Parts: sequence; structure tokens; C-alpha cells
Amino acid sequence: MTKILIPIETASGERRVSATPSAVKKLKCLGCEVFVESSAGELSGFNDTLYKESGGEIVSKSNINIWENADVVFCVQPPSESNLSKLKKGAILLGLLNPYANEKLQKTITSKKISALSMELLPRISRAQSSDVLSSQANIAGYKAVLLAASELDRYFPMLMTAAGTVQPAKVVVLGGGVAGLQAVATAKRLGAIVFVSDIRPAVKEQVESLGARFIELPEIDEKPGESGGYAKAVTPEFLSKQKATLTKYLSEADVAVCTAQVLGKKAPVLIDSNMIEKMRPGAVVIDLAVSQGGNCEGTKSNETIIRNGVKLIGAGELPSSVPYDASTLYAKNLTSLITPFIKDGVINLDKEDELISGCLLSNEGVILQNKVFEN
Ligand code: NAD
Repeated sequence: MTKILIPIETASGERRVSATPSAVKKLKCLGCEVFVESSAGELSGFNDTLYKESGGEIVSKSNINIWENADVVFCVQPPSESNLSKLKKGAILLGLLNPYANEKLQKTITSKKISALSMELLPRISRAQSSDVLSSQANIAGYKAVLLAASELDRYFPMLMTAAGTVQPAKVVVLGGGVAGLQAVATAKRLGAIVFVSDIRPAVKEQVESLGARFIELPEIDEKPGESGGYAKAVTPEFLSKQKATLTKYLSEADVAVCTAQVLGKKAPVLIDSNMIEKMRPGAVVIDLAVSQGGNCEGTKSNETIIRNGVKLIGAGELPSSVPYDASTLYAKNLTSLITPFIKDGVINLDKEDELISGCLLSNEGVILQNKVFEN
């Protein structure tokens, strides 16, 4: 019988858990044994009793045997070095392993001969949709970014006609119209704002217009930005400079900028620089979701609010964790949906030739398969 461990998340500020009681129930029904570290789900609204009722065995975090005996570890973020080093050869680690520039993790999984599946690397094909962690979490980030902006802004979002006068609607600029960006657009529209979107993939224009937002036209230069597998490629410095010139006008009139522009495995493009911040109005708010990839806005720092020229710059890379119940529920469904087809009579046997598994398999028993992703 495969032994699955659901550990307490130890990364600072992390409130999600990798499996909810209903995910545990599903894994039990498939015949696996599931061990849940005591209070692992506490911060996401799932207590030990709920896990016990779902068939999980609650184990104390001081019980090191549980790490030594685990066949599979579900996680949200990579577990601590000390816990990883207890895992046995061939154990499977499944989660958001932040494969980019993470040499420390690479060393541990190599030396301990761990098989690691990094959910960030899941191919974006139709069959993968139910396991798409980046989408489920980006959706939450986009929604929460707008709520955060609305609560930090010195103005209303909607237009209001009152006896004391008319309040004009807020203007929101969304940079990047992917999963997070489109959810930010939908949320800002629901709150009554006027929304503008910049993206370099032409398909985004129709998507943002269908949500009632306006697309900011791309600079007219010969070299068009590229894409691969649905992801944008990095733009040239010439393109970026022209794009920033266009954005300066929109940002100078904006109340809020929500930054979601990313390039897979690379630093995020800097779309708002210091000169552009200086042209924004004091009181405006910038929410930078790309902060952990270097940020779309110059000067943002993770989990910090910095005031520059009266503009609030908020580095918000961890927003999914601020909605831990739903974020964990969706995340756990993503993980179970990836491995369920490979469980038979309580035993997990991953088919490493399968497109989804080979896509996110970072290491096979310690042999790094996607070395390049560590180099960025
Ligand atoms: P992402 O997080 O990598 O990037 C966010 C957005 O930033 C993207 O739309 C990208 O085009 C944009 N961007 C990059 N450079 C930019 C720049 N210089 N200026 C402005 N915008 C810039 O992307 P994502 O949200 O993960 O989604 C990327 C695409 O994948 C979307 O089309 C999405 O619909 C698609 N997708 C497909 C599937 C599937 O088929 N299973 C699942 C999820 C997402």
C-alpha cells in the first residue's frame, strides 16, 4: 500500500495545505494509506478531526519515522531541507517546487535520490486542465489583487451618483492578460471600474473585450512578440521601450495598476519604471503579483508596501495563500487528479512516459531531467 504524507507547510506565510479532508478521503478510497501531520490543515480551515473522519491518520510532526517511511509526499511549497533529507530513495515529492534557480533543492533531491514532480512544469494541454495548479492559484491571485487594491485605494471603484455629487469610476490598468490578469479584469469590472489591459499575445484582445475591458494596442514594430505553448516569450528591449512609452500615458491617468505579466522560467518584464511611477497620481496603487519573479514594477518587494511619490507599491506574490480554504481545495484537487490515474489497488505506479508526468518530472530517483530549468 502506498503511504502518502501530508505535511505541515513550513514556508513563511504559507497558509495552504496540500490535501484537504475530501482529497484524503479520495486517496483512502483508492486504497492508499494517508498520514497527516497534526494541525497541517489548521490555517486553511481543516482541523485534525475532519482528516480523521476522512480516514487520514494524524501523526505528530516530531515523528521522524513518518518522513522515513513515506512513499509519496504532497506539498504546497518545498519541505525543509531537514525533512527532505529523511526521505527514502525513490520517494516521490509532488508540489510547487519552484524549479527555477533553486540549486539547494536540486542538490537535496539528487543526493537523496528523490523523484520530484514540479507542478509548475505541467504541460498546458487539455488533458492537464484539472491538474493545472498555476491556473487555479493565479485565478485566486487575480481576484484578491483587485480586492486588495480597492481596500488600499483612496477612492471608490464604481461610479456613484449621490446628492453630494457624482463620483467618477476608478481607472484600473492590468498588465498581463493571462489567467490572473483576466480574473483581475472580471473582478475590477464587477466592482465598477474602467479597465484597460496590456498584453503581448494577440489572442488576449478579444478575451479582455469580452469582459468589457479595453485592450491597449501594441507598439507597431516589425518584430512581433512570440509565444510558445500558450506562454509569452520575452520581448526585445526595443519592443519593451515602445510598450512602456504607450503604458506611461495610461498609467498617468490610472488609479490602480495590477501587474501580472510573466515569462515562463525568466525574470518578469519591468513594465513600470521609476520615471513612470513619477507620472502616476499620488494615492494610486500598484499591486505587483510578479514580484517573486523580479516584479513588473521597479522597486516592489515581496510582502511590503512602499510609498514612492505618493504611489503605493505593493509586492503581493503570495495572494493565493490569503484565501487558504479555497486555494487548498483547488490545489488538492489538482494534485489528486494528476496521480489518480496511476493508482491501482492502493499502489501508486507513475508512468514516467505519460505526457503529464514526464512534463513535470524534475528528477527521476535523483537524476535531474530538466536541468535547464534550474539555471535561470
Ligand atoms: P503567465 O503567468 O506566464 O503570464 C501572464 C501574462 O503575461 C500572459 O498573458 C503573457 O502573455 C503576459 N505577458 C508576458 N510578457 C508581457 C509583456 N511584456 N507585456 C504584457 N504582458 C505580458 O501566463 P498564464 O496566465 O499562466 O497563461 C498563459 C496562457 O496559457 C493563457 O493564454 C492561458 O489561457 C493559457 N492557459 C492554457 C491552459 C490549457 O490549455 N490547459 C491552461 C491555463 C492557461
